[in-house]
Amino acid sequence: MDNLSFIRSFTRKATAACRKKQVPRIAAKGLHHAGFPVGYFVRNLMLLAAEPRWAQKPPRLKRIKIVRLLQERSRFFLQVHEWLDRHDTGKLDNLSEGYGNQGGQDDAVSVDTYCIHCGGCCEIACGLPDFPAESIIPARWQRIFGEGLGENHRFCPFLWEDRPSGGSLCSIHPWRSRPCRIFEAEECRFLLDDPEFKKLSDPVALKKVYRLLLRLIDAR
Ligand code: SF4
Ligand code: SF4
Repeated sequence: MDNLSFIRSFTRKATAACRKKQVPRIAAKGLHHAGFPVGYFVRNLMLLAAEPRWAQKPPRLKRIKIVRLLQERSRFFLQVHEWLDRHDTGKLDNLSEGYGNQGGQDDAVSVDTYCIHCGGCCEIACGLPDFPAESIIPARWQRIFGEGLGENHRFCPFLWEDRPSGGSLCSIHPWRSRPCRIFEAEECRFLLDDPEFKKLSDPVALKKVYRLLLRLIDAR
């Protein structure tokens, strides 16, 4: 089964579990949207699995925490989605064309020549909330960018995913923080060569976590 099939299967299971009231409705609602970062959520779990404090938790507690993570991620995703819709940015019509990744603005090299939308540069729990003065991002969200979405979240609150390709999308690309703008070709090369980062793209490990997630979501 390829990654996309895993995502579809995950979404179906989560919805079924939601009907049985095993997963809060808000979690399944986010999952159904094109753009919800399912793949990054799974990678979030891979990062947690490598942390000793997480590994020591009993399975029942892990499930509770994973469902809570999904709920929090989904709630915030839906708020951003609704905000973009309200501001009529036109970005929701075609996610792939409307959004970018981080992408430097000062680099002589165009971001299109090196970015493969792996999302690695946005897999940070939080960043420096140094938004340009003209950014219309609400103050509360700027704080969330600075502090992160909460316990156990391991990627940017504004990172979305292009469902057909699995590539990364920045939901607030035109208004993103300054640190996002200075991540350029050199930083990108450095990250892509990092052996620890490469482990996150290992298809075998990814599928293992997807399966675990499906089992947890479907647990009675
Ligand atoms: S705000 Fe956008 S560019 Fe910056 S880390 Fe988040 S998703 Fe990436
Ligand atoms: S790490 Fe590089 S390839 Fe990956 S999304 Fe960022 S700029 Fe693009």
